[in-house]
Amino acid sequence: MEKDIRNERPFFPPLPEPNSKRGQTMAKGNFYHPRIEGINRKALRELQNERLRWQIRRCLARSEFYQEKFKKAGIKASQINNVDDLVHLPVVTKQELRDEQIKHPPFGRYTVAPAKDWRELHPSTGTTGVPVNTIWSEKDVENITEVTARTMRSFGVRPGDIIQNGFSYGLWVAGMSTHYAGERIGCFVIPIGASMTGRQIDYLLNPGSTVLLCTPSFALHIAENLRERGISPKKLLLRLGSFGGEGGTETNATRRKIEEGLGIDAYDYYGLAEIAPTFASECTAQAGLHFAEDHYAIEIINPDTLERCTEGEMGVLVITHLTREATPMLRYWTNDYARYDSARCSCGRTHGRAVGGILGRADDMVIYRGAKFYPVQVEKVVRSYRELGDEFLIEMTRDGSTFADVCTVVCECLAPGSERMALEQRLRKDLKEELLVTPEIRIENFGTLERTTFKAKRIVDKRPKG
Ligand SMILES: [Zn+2]
Repeated sequence: MEKDIRNERPFFPPLPEPNSKRGQTMAKGNFYHPRIEGINRKALRELQNERLRWQIRRCLARSEFYQEKFKKAGIKASQINNVDDLVHLPVVTKQELRDEQIKHPPFGRYTVAPAKDWRELHPSTGTTGVPVNTIWSEKDVENITEVTARTMRSFGVRPGDIIQNGFSYGLWVAGMSTHYAGERIGCFVIPIGASMTGRQIDYLLNPGSTVLLCTPSFALHIAENLRERGISPKKLLLRLGSFGGEGGTETNATRRKIEEGLGIDAYDYYGLAEIAPTFASECTAQAGLHFAEDHYAIEIINPDTLERCTEGEMGVLVITHLTREATPMLRYWTNDYARYDSARCSCGRTHGRAVGGILGRADDMVIYRGAKFYPVQVEKVVRSYRELGDEFLIEMTRDGSTFADVCTVVCECLAPGSERMALEQRLRKDLKEELLVTPEIRIENFGTLERTTFKAKRIVDKRPKG
């Protein structure tokens, strides 16, 4: 008979003792938890395997959702002994979670920790449909705080920093977690949230925040406002910033614009409501997003064959919670594309990286005249032009006479009207080269497009439905 594990607390095996010399060297650098961040790959794998077996056992003991999935796939818990065995399990999709919550409201049957342990509810933002509820237990809050603190230390946040937290403090995951982590590191946190560009600038000036956290589009908007008010970034004490919640910072043109506009070093991070707010981020080497692999098993899957990609090959990121208590995901299909590299980073961290960041988000893919492209590719081109503003839109419409789809890239011009024609021609050529298809172009006056403090919506679909 299966042992009753309802009241069992997670068993996290003790970490191996590090090489003392390395431990000392690393403790001096930007490390929050040097022992685990520099753990050797073999010990990391053993830790992952042990945590995975614990997770599989409790998911099968307590969740009808997972019991049904295993049964349907004809898999027994005894067949999943290590992270390589994960390929035998079916994946979990966001649509599946949505359907499950509709059928079994309000939280579906994949809540595994007992309700008395629940502490926070964080629904996904619902940008692609009905929000999916994710729950954090007390232990989950602790682990999320630890991992977020680790990521923040890795891109250079230090005790004593003044953090201007421009992430939304509502139901969205990023505001709370970075707040907890900032306090944990020993920083002074300004919980301004994603609002009030004017006041963001006031706090940058006084008391003089040293770290800015927000979405890349909001960072550009703040930089634009600084420029309009004639404030040189040199006047600010701001040293660095981390920008996530949407794509952008991984694109060199956007990163450069943020760095120049705010006079800082800009770092990319990655999170997903269903997985964790900030579980992968760049270190100061800017060599890709380091995953916190002691808490998350990372797979890169070929979406056509559903087989695991070899290292360096691009595929869909699939993530398994190794330590999550309340709503654990076994093989969550993120719909995001990445390449994985397990080679040791120059920063000394041994945890694998998504090289080049998140390379495309399948939810955002545009299909136009047979070509497939992502908004990030349009962004790369638009933001490489000094004559253009940072905002852009991809508008999908339908031609009234031919019924063909029309894709228009809308951007804003900083240059005088007389130069627009030549600009449009250059832009058309560059977009064609990047997207392998030629979109229509519409250049508006600067300030026409909506600015956002949250996630920017880049695709506007105006085609008739049905
Ligand atoms: Zn690194």
